[in-house]
Amino acid sequence: MKKRLFYIIIMISVIAATVTGILSSLAYYEFYVKESEEQLKAIVKLSSYYNWNDYSGIHESVNNIIKSVNYEIRITIVEDSGNVIFDNFADSETIDNHIKRPEIENAFNIGYGEDTRLSKTLKNETYYYSVKLDNGTVLRLSREMSSIRNMFDNILPILMGIFFLIVLIAFIIASSITKKIIKPIKHMTKSLDDLIEGYEFNPHIVIYEELEPLAHKITEQKIKINKYINEIKYERDTIGVIIENMKEGFILLNKDKDILSINASGKRMVGNEKFNLNEHKNILELTRNIQIINNIETSIKENKHIVSNVDTKRYHYRYYYNPVSEKPNLVDGIMILIEDVTIEKNAEIMRHEFSANVSHELKTPLTTMIGFAEMIKEGLITDSESIKKYCGMINKEGLRLIALIEDIIRLSKIEEGIDIDSDNIVNLKDVSSEVCNLLQEKANLNNIKIILHAENIVMKANRNYINELLYNLVDNGIKYNKEEGKVKININKSNDYICIVVRDSGVGISNEHQDRIFERFYRVDKSRSKETGGTGLGLSIVKHIVEMYNGNIQLKSTEHIGTEIKIKFPL
Ligand code: ADP
Repeated sequence: MKKRLFYIIIMISVIAATVTGILSSLAYYEFYVKESEEQLKAIVKLSSYYNWNDYSGIHESVNNIIKSVNYEIRITIVEDSGNVIFDNFADSETIDNHIKRPEIENAFNIGYGEDTRLSKTLKNETYYYSVKLDNGTVLRLSREMSSIRNMFDNILPILMGIFFLIVLIAFIIASSITKKIIKPIKHMTKSLDDLIEGYEFNPHIVIYEELEPLAHKITEQKIKINKYINEIKYERDTIGVIIENMKEGFILLNKDKDILSINASGKRMVGNEKFNLNEHKNILELTRNIQIINNIETSIKENKHIVSNVDTKRYHYRYYYNPVSEKPNLVDGIMILIEDVTIEKNAEIMRHEFSANVSHELKTPLTTMIGFAEMIKEGLITDSESIKKYCGMINKEGLRLIALIEDIIRLSKIEEGIDIDSDNIVNLKDVSSEVCNLLQEKANLNNIKIILHAENIVMKANRNYINELLYNLVDNGIKYNKEEGKVKININKSNDYICIVVRDSGVGISNEHQDRIFERFYRVDKSRSKETGGTGLGLSIVKHIVEMYNGNIQLKSTEHIGTEIKIKFPL
């Protein structure tokens, strides 16, 4: 608009300057011709008072006339017969009779005459003016029109200069006017932009009152649009926040498999946390997992929902591929939801392992018991001493079986949170003394010394569980100890927690096993564990009880030196 306005102003100025120039030149030319003719007339009239009577008078008068003008002037004297008796441009003898020349004829008749025509003598358009002199002759002066035009040609460059000056001034004025006209419109536009950005519209900015209704209409529209935009923004932001904070992974793709949206969980679960949607687009830039890519393609191609699992080293994910379509049978894209099923999957694995382990653990003593019983039944063992020995072994295996079953029942009860009974006040000094007394006999068998340092501390818990916890720890301290070893139990309290430490000077646990001894049925030395009546569930039960009361458990152990297990319960 600015340019157009500028060009229009310039064009108008140039046209105006040109028209003015041409018209004024014509007017000036006309005026100049008239002036020249008037001047010639005046000279003729004045010259009529010179002496034209004799030869020398004529010559002197002619000289005076020529001197008084700065252009070529033709002077002719004609007598009443029409004969030319003097002409300063041609030989009077050779000139035709001039009686029929309009200016001469008129001069003889009415005293003066004028004419403009092509001169035969000068071969140019010429202006003639004649007056009748007192001596009866006619004095005629003539001037070529071209000489007038020549004079006019001289002033043409000046006229052109003025023309260009006008154009230049028009240029400067046009650009300043354009700026001035555009400025308020620009302000108005800026103000409307501000409005879109959410600022208030400034009505004072409308300088042209003709634009006011338009500005108000636009303002109204903008306010409406802003309202809609804000509503849409709010909805989008809300959905955005929900998606971004979702625990589940979310990926939205179009049918070309370009990613339209992805949340942080989605990036993490796919294994590309650094993925930046501003830099990359295609799914292949996010993942090269062939299973995922194939499922996406099938889901889009066949317009069907697919559910499939992707397992990584540590996690198990379930992917839900949902084709998105606005019209039936026309897939616009695909929405992928990723669910972390690691806990369920691990629980499932654990359940499988547990059933396999339980079956194995139960089967072994039963097989031994059946084997011995069959030998006795078949009469393979007959002497009473051997029968006594094998019955003793069957008895031992039977007791181990019962211990195992009891441990399994206890563990599942603890796992299910049955009998938590946390409101019981348990005195740790009493429980630990009881446990030590119970295990004293077992310790004496291997000359192991139990040293108990317990403060008089009480905690809210189930007495049986605390008893179980301490029993398992002290029992392990005795079982996995050396002859004349020691088991020390320290129970104390700080500002924040109750601390139970069971330390032994036993065989210790090598580093490779330390992470796994809290797993069910995990035993470092199977034969030793069995020999001592271990089930492989003791530390598992301990761990569950500690977790039940939000405590934590730490293990420090050095092979052949000893083991320390520290448990902290928050107060
Ligand atoms: P178990 O019934 O076999 O003792 P636990 O769950 O109590 O089962 O312990 C798991 C395994 O950890 C044991 O088999 C044993 O090898 C090891 N262990 C536990 N406590 C100690 C300890 N104080 N010193 C050395 N090894 C231990």
